[in-house]
Amino acid sequence: MRYSTTMTSRWLIVVLLCIAATFAISPSLHAEELSKTDFVLGTVCTVRLLEGGSKATLDESFSRLRTIEDHMSANRDDTEISQVNAMAGKTPVKVSEDTFYVISKALEYARLTNGAFDPSVGPLVKLWNIGNGDEKVPPTEKILAAKALVDWRQVVLDATTRTVFLKKPGMALDLGAIAKGYAADEIEKILLNHKVKAAVIDLGGNVFVFGSKKDKSPWRIGIQNPESERGEYLGIVSGGQMTVVTSGVYERYFIENGKRYHHIMSTQTGFPVDNDLISVSIVSKSSIDADALSTVLFVLGIEKGMEFLKQFPDTYAIFIDKDHNVYLSPGAGKVFNLQDKSYRYAEK
Ligand code: AMP
Ligand code: MG
Repeated sequence: MRYSTTMTSRWLIVVLLCIAATFAISPSLHAEELSKTDFVLGTVCTVRLLEGGSKATLDESFSRLRTIEDHMSANRDDTEISQVNAMAGKTPVKVSEDTFYVISKALEYARLTNGAFDPSVGPLVKLWNIGNGDEKVPPTEKILAAKALVDWRQVVLDATTRTVFLKKPGMALDLGAIAKGYAADEIEKILLNHKVKAAVIDLGGNVFVFGSKKDKSPWRIGIQNPESERGEYLGIVSGGQMTVVTSGVYERYFIENGKRYHHIMSTQTGFPVDNDLISVSIVSKSSIDADALSTVLFVLGIEKGMEFLKQFPDTYAIFIDKDHNVYLSPGAGKVFNLQDKSYRYAEK
């Protein structure tokens, strides 16, 4: 039995799958397998149950994804995050436990990175509006004005009232770098409750492989080759239950005067990060950390990123630069295998 979506959303899925950066390679769809795909959290999400679980498992998973979108999207004006943003400089806003948790976690990464990762990046994200068509480089004074509003220290959380307050008018939160990771971890909990034995969660390229396959063979997750069609991978991550999350410049970008402007912002310059990296993939047990870390390491670059990662045990990084060099964090060679001969391992 296969639980499928409408034709329109299926068409959208085909289009959007072309930009996903990470994807599960194994195994092929079986007749008895349950799978559901839908457009949530601004991307195409699929949950495949390979062993155990039921249609109710899939429905609960997608209803959880919708709740997370209803709470955390910055692209709709009826979410908790939009409420917080609308009340910037005015009054604190009470939010749900999950929104409060994800903001706390994002602020923790902001503190650890001294603001290189910053969930208050909203004004810059809105100004550049990358990935929505019709983009151009904004005027310098607008970039400077937006950058001046980005400051995680001006985000006030009150755990007793569960409120969030942005101190300056015009400030705005954007949880795009971390919310999908949180969502994948939440689905993991649902799968555990439903006694699922093996499943693949793919939230727009944030891949989580859950449990173990019947034949006990390792999971295989492909890292997209940034220069070719989807499905052509540059390398494979293999192992037991894990999550692989990639941040890359080829997901959302525009080109002006021959220069690529992508969606990961430098809070220092107000421009997209400009450091020769094409992508950073993180392998971890926790998807919220992998999601935050893929963005963090992209912003920090190879040397500082490798140093930063030392605080996270059993977490690996694969950096790819525009000259086809692949840099592995210590231990990543145990899980990652380079496939594409036009790329080579390098060290800094
Ligand atoms: P990801 O694809 O997980 O690396 O997340 C990229 C998204 O995170 C962007 O589309 C923005 O919504 C947001 N973002 C961009 N720059 C930053 C930054 N420096 N810190 C935190 N979030 C960011
Ligand atoms: Mg991320």
